[in-house]
Amino acid sequence: MKKKVLITGAAGFLGSHLCERFIKDGFNVIGMDNLITGRLNNIEHLFKLESFEFYHHDVSKYIHIPGELDYILHFASPASPIDYLKIPIQTLKVGSLGIHNCLGLAKAKGAKVLIASTSEVYGDPSVHPQKEEYWGNVNPVGPRGVYDEAKRFQEAITMAYHTFHGVETRIARIFNTYGPKMRLNDGRVLPAFIGQALRGEDLTIFGDGSQTRSFCYVDDLVEGLVRLLNIDYVQPVNIGNPSEISISDFAEEIIKLTGTEQKVIYKDLPVDDPKQRQPDISKAKSLLNWEPKIDRNEGLKITYNYFKSLSSEELRKTDHNDFDKYIIK
Ligand code: UDP
Repeated sequence: MKKKVLITGAAGFLGSHLCERFIKDGFNVIGMDNLITGRLNNIEHLFKLESFEFYHHDVSKYIHIPGELDYILHFASPASPIDYLKIPIQTLKVGSLGIHNCLGLAKAKGAKVLIASTSEVYGDPSVHPQKEEYWGNVNPVGPRGVYDEAKRFQEAITMAYHTFHGVETRIARIFNTYGPKMRLNDGRVLPAFIGQALRGEDLTIFGDGSQTRSFCYVDDLVEGLVRLLNIDYVQPVNIGNPSEISISDFAEEIIKLTGTEQKVIYKDLPVDDPKQRQPDISKAKSLLNWEPKIDRNEGLKITYNYFKSLSSEELRKTDHNDFDKYIIK
């Protein structure tokens, strides 16, 4: 009998990669998405497969899945600053009501749950690199609070279902991840820069560009998640690529990669934008025998080719300037 996995946020960037991976690994996959930020394009090639079913459903509402269920991967959530600033209430609901429904379902079915938590639980961190024992520096009422606190609550309720109801749970703290199927207009820095280069616009650096991020290629991340699901460990585990870079150096890399003749321009830094971020992955290394294999050079080339293959109509559609409306001070 094939094992069955429910993946929420199936039409999103990470969700769609997870659907592909679990189908490849021989699972029956139920993908669930309300398509607020997810895109059917990401998964429509799976619809013809017997091992894939799609439920167009909002995970924040009661979930009914007939029959047995072995795993639930909760990956539904707006996950970029523009998205969660535009839809703050849904962001809070999916990280609270959504995970509550998933955990209730897991309890009823005896399924194991893996949640997508985030480096945002560390907020604007005062410990560097961030290790799992660090509790974070989060502003609950700032613009990022709806996402950060939803994810922190999600960890708390997941742990409570584990200790109180004995549900088998896993918590992945996911750091910045990139790759094909990211939404071009989701406002994150990589699709923003590549989109700008492809449209012949200047690249917008927020602040002075000295803030850092550490970018992980999606296939590496998915491998880490699969390994985490398969070990017996309930505490959070950071999954990300520790190769850290400043946003100005990252802009230079994108300029070189795309060959654009545009320049960089500077805009105000969004409120509460973390100054530095790098995962300490010692735990993942020792527990999962995992570390990223794809360096930025290689990952960026693959991702650039994906964005280049998009239609010019899709390329033109961008709400990147919404940043001005939503979060610039
Ligand atoms: N950023 C930027 N220009 C953009 C979009 C983002 O300089 O057009 C900066 C942003 O302020 C942040 C970093 O890039 O410091 C990463 O932003 P992203 O939204 O990708 O992720 P997060 O801040 O959630 O890590």
